[in-house]
Amino acid sequence: MSPNDLQYNQRRVAALADRPWKMLVGGKMVEARNGERYATSSPSTEKQLAEVPLAQKADVEAAVEAAEKAYPAWRDMPVAGRVAILRSFIEVLKEHEHDLALLDAANLGSPVTSMHGDVQLACMLLDYICNVACEVKGQTIPGNGSNWHVTRREPYGVVGRIIPFNHPLMFAASKIGAPLVMGNTVVLKVPDQAPLSPLYMAELIKDVFPPGVINVISGDGRNTGDALVRHPRVKRIALTGSVETGLLIQRSAAEVMVKHVSLELGGKNPMIVFPDADMDSAVEGAARGMNFHWSQGQSCGSTSRLFLHRDIHDEFVEKLKRRVERIVIGDPLDPATEMGCMISKSQYDKAHKYSDLGREQGAVCVTGGSRPEGAAFEMGYFIRPTIFTGVTNDMRIAQEEIFGPVLSVLKWDDEEAVISQANQVEYGLTAAVWTRDINKAFKTISRLEVGFTWINGSSSHFAGVPFGGYKNSGVDNEEGIEELYSYTQLKTVNIMIS
Ligand code: NAD
Repeated sequence: MSPNDLQYNQRRVAALADRPWKMLVGGKMVEARNGERYATSSPSTEKQLAEVPLAQKADVEAAVEAAEKAYPAWRDMPVAGRVAILRSFIEVLKEHEHDLALLDAANLGSPVTSMHGDVQLACMLLDYICNVACEVKGQTIPGNGSNWHVTRREPYGVVGRIIPFNHPLMFAASKIGAPLVMGNTVVLKVPDQAPLSPLYMAELIKDVFPPGVINVISGDGRNTGDALVRHPRVKRIALTGSVETGLLIQRSAAEVMVKHVSLELGGKNPMIVFPDADMDSAVEGAARGMNFHWSQGQSCGSTSRLFLHRDIHDEFVEKLKRRVERIVIGDPLDPATEMGCMISKSQYDKAHKYSDLGREQGAVCVTGGSRPEGAAFEMGYFIRPTIFTGVTNDMRIAQEEIFGPVLSVLKWDDEEAVISQANQVEYGLTAAVWTRDINKAFKTISRLEVGFTWINGSSSHFAGVPFGGYKNSGVDNEEGIEELYSYTQLKTVNIMIS
């Protein structure tokens, strides 16, 4: 048996899950202070995998205290020293790639092969952060002749980092890189629904960082997350999550003090296909853009509103239907699987609820909308890739983030109208435009109210390329050098020359 074998993977997950799951606080693996724990399951089997600590206010306090204690020495370490430690972190991730991918596949329901991609992407993002850390520097600015100015980039102190469920390890690893390399210490709150890979990562890196520099706690949003956001000595909060949580966090933080709160939130993203587009590539792009294969459509950047020009609509839909029906759905631990299952019953029910709403509002389900057939799918939150046609922009399936494998297709024939419809949504995260006419592509892109766009592409991310949202999709950018800047405060020094 090898890591390319389902039975091996099942046994390995069982062995990994069977451990006393703990949190990392002050360099030690610890239980919650009151001993409280909660169960976490595998969405493909609906069976419990493990119990993990449920951190309360006192645990958040301990983590912040540890981070605060570690801060002065970490801040004063030369950036090259912090980079060297982050590079050791990358090596640990690489060494344990298969185990981390397996824990995500089991706990989240995404295919193990895609979760290998997540670990690799985390390493690439961290590598980029290490490469550019020294480029985050101040300026020299002339004054009036008898003075000049320099600016310094200084860390905040303790940063609270809160992540969502859809890429547990990738976010846990990559989102701590920028605050740490800039000299902050971090308290990371892992996703309540898929805590295992981040907690395993914490165990692996316990001795990589000086005690307290990185603290990893598990728990829910209402208690654990909220206590972190409201903590008066946590000066900077970063959330990747839903719009609903983003709004809550902005309010909670503001009740305590003024904080820098950055938000990477949801999306309901348009992909506009012009009649001159290369149809086969665009069909592939539409399927990839939905991230059926990577996260069962549970992706913020999914292009889940597909605007097809009237002249190509029918042929495009037919080809796309055939393409998505070929996607291999199966056990997330099986290396042959291309699409796994939803993370939870509530995500599964939500996708079905929107399919029902689509039908009620007059859209037509051309494929999917149900559980795959066969004994292998009797348990688990599996849903087939789903495509609705006849969608109009006022329907709820065209407006609300489903965060599942449900694609809404809208027909268009007027360029002005389609741009306007694409913008008529509360979100502004990503958009894709498909055409062979570069002028048309740029003109359309420049009018779309979103933060990240593709021309003749979809779904891809690259280390060093800023990612962030307009409108309700967020505040600030990540994955580029802007993310590093955002974990610094700018200090200006005025120097008098006599
Ligand atoms: P969520 O908002 O429910 O939870 C995200 C995190 O916030 C979790 O760790 C949760 O425990 C915590 N949280 C919840 N309430 C909180 C509170 N009151 N105070 C502090 N913390 C709290 O999101 P989710 O369901 O885990 O993830 C899905 C959402 O994340 C989708 O909307 C998706 O679009 C978005 N997302 C955005 C990006 C991006 O880069 N823009 C990336 C991935 C996911």
